[in-house]
Formats: sequence, C-alpha cells, structure tokens
Amino acid sequence: MQPIQRIAILTSGGDAPGMNAAVRAATRAALARGWQMHGVRNGYAGLMEGVFEPLQARDVGGIIQRGGTVLGSARAPEFATEAGRARALDNLRQRGIEALIVIGGNGSQSGANVLAHAGLPVVGIASTVDNDLAGTDVTIGVDTAVNITVDAIDRLRTTGTSHKRAFLVETMGRNCGYIALMAGIAGGAEVIVVPECEIEPHEVAERLRAAYQRGKTHAMVVVAEGARCGAKAIMQHVAEHRDTIGFALRVTTLGHVVRGGVPTAADRVLATRLGAAAVDQLARGMPNVLVGLRGNEIVATPLAKIAGKTKGIDQDLLALARVLAQ
Ligand code: ATP
Repeated sequence: MQPIQRIAILTSGGDAPGMNAAVRAATRAALARGWQMHGVRNGYAGLMEGVFEPLQARDVGGIIQRGGTVLGSARAPEFATEAGRARALDNLRQRGIEALIVIGGNGSQSGANVLAHAGLPVVGIASTVDNDLAGTDVTIGVDTAVNITVDAIDRLRTTGTSHKRAFLVETMGRNCGYIALMAGIAGGAEVIVVPECEIEPHEVAERLRAAYQRGKTHAMVVVAEGARCGAKAIMQHVAEHRDTIGFALRVTTLGHVVRGGVPTAADRVLATRLGAAAVDQLARGMPNVLVGLRGNEIVATPLAKIAGKTKGIDQDLLALARVLAQ
C-alpha cells in the first residue's frame, strides 16, 4: 500500500455530542503525520454532492466543547443506492482522497461497510446517542445523553416530592434502552421501561401503587422512546386507575434535548481517543474497521462484522434497578 497523503472525514446520521472532538482529534492526528485532511459537509449527502473543504489545525480549534457537528450531518437515503454511492466514490477519486473516516451510528457504519467493499479504505468511529452499535461498549454522545436525562430526573424529583406526584420521563435511544437504563439507575427510578424487556402498563401501575403504599413521596418512571409500552399507553392506564394507584402521573418527553448542548468530559475524551485511533488504523494499513471501546481499551472490529448488528443492554443491571427501587 502506498503511503497515504490525503484523507477525508464526515459525520453522519443523528448528531451526537462529542462528534466535534473526534473531528478535531482525527484532523490533528492526520496533519501530524503530514497528511491532508478534507471535511465533507453533511455526511453522505455531501459526499454525493462533492462538498469538501480542506481542514487545517486552526479550522478545528475551539470546537472540542461544542455539541452537534461543525461538519453538518444528514440522512441521505440516496446513498443506499448504487448510483448514489458511485457518485460519492467518484468525488473522492477526483480529489485524490485515498481513505475516509465515518463518524456515526448504525446506519452510517453500514454505509461505511459498503464503501469498504467497493475498495475504499474506511474507518468508522462509533458515535450515536443511541449506543446501539455492536463492536463497542459505548458510543460518542451517550454519556452526555445519559447525564442530561439524569439531570431532568433530578429536577422532576424535587417537584414530585413537593406534591407527592409521580413523573414519567421519556428519553431517546431508538430501539435501544441504554439511556433509559443508565439514567434510571443513576436517577434512582422506581420503574424503567426498555424495548429489550417489555412490561405492560398494568405492571407499571402496580409498581407505582406499591411505591405509594410503601410511603414514597414521589416516583420516577423512565421510558425509552422505542418501548412498545410507551408513555401514551402508561399515561392512559394510570389515568383510568388513578384512584387505586395513589400517585398522579405527569409526563415529560425529553426528545432532542437529550442530544443537545455541550458534551461531557467523558464524551470528549472518548471522541479524542477514537479520532486519533481511526488515523492510527489507516497509518498501520489496517482500514475497514470500526473503532470503539471495550473496557478501557480501544478496539478495532471489522466493519463487515458489525454492520447492521445491534447490541443489547445489561439485563443484570435492569434486574438490580428493580431490587433497588424498594
Ligand atoms: P443514529 O444512530 O444517530 O440515528 P445512524 O448512523 O444510525 O445514526 P441512519 O439515519 O440510520 O443514522 O444512517 C445514516 C445514513 O447512513 C443514512 O442516511 C444513509 O445515507 C446511510 N445508510 C444507512 N443504512 C445504510 C445501508 N444499509 N447502506 C448504505 N448506506 C446506509
């Protein structure tokens, strides 16, 4: 393999706090090796449209603390077509770009895998607030999302206690309950509802009733947005059985608030490590992998192995949360 001279980087799918720290680290690590770095605007959409800009060290200054992505992101369905990908590869070829770093979640890494199969050296960086990617324990952005959810739980608890109320907090995560589980544990939730272990609205009501009877002055229900037994079904059931439950239940849907604002230190450090690791993989001539974290070790897993795969949550932690809700 010829020594690399020019690479590109993009952020794709849902924005995640910490993406900018990864762009900064990968850019500066590449520049330190004497390579040129090009930023692609708006993920795969910009790759197909040919919207590139050279990135220097100063261009990625002052972004480590910023949420979102300075490169922009997009959902680009056309990239899933042969014609869309041919345009993207053509744009890279025309600019003499020899390798690509893709910062994004599950869908984005499936896209990266397709590019790798087409012969382009690619390294994926695990980044999504959903934390549903196989090949890594955690993804860039999820620590921030968990902390924002915990902050909301803490705030709602103070008002809940004052009025002897229960609160339902719906948080993000698509079909993955990781944010709900971790925030529920850190926030001392009475009930955690996740897609990986569905419970029925009447069970939620039963746990609220039991909490009330045990003399609790508040109760928190944390629900992952992807749960079949969602906020609406729970609210309806509780409203219909209000007299027997004790608590009144109010709902707060966090939505995109969960992935906004500044990234936590943990997300910045993770993103920095993964950004540098991605460049390292290319320098060692070992592309076509996703870089992620196992324990405290950076690991590289073939894109072909993780593409389209999701990981589950820790069922033991879910069981523990239930025990501790006493
Ligand atoms: P998040 O977890 O934050 O939603 P994501 O990377 O999973 O991030 P998606 O919208 O699923 O977000 O995917 C981002 C982009 O990746 C899509 O808009 C599309 O351009 C590309 N993509 C997704 N799946 C595939 C696929 N199977 N093949 C090729 N490209 C894909």
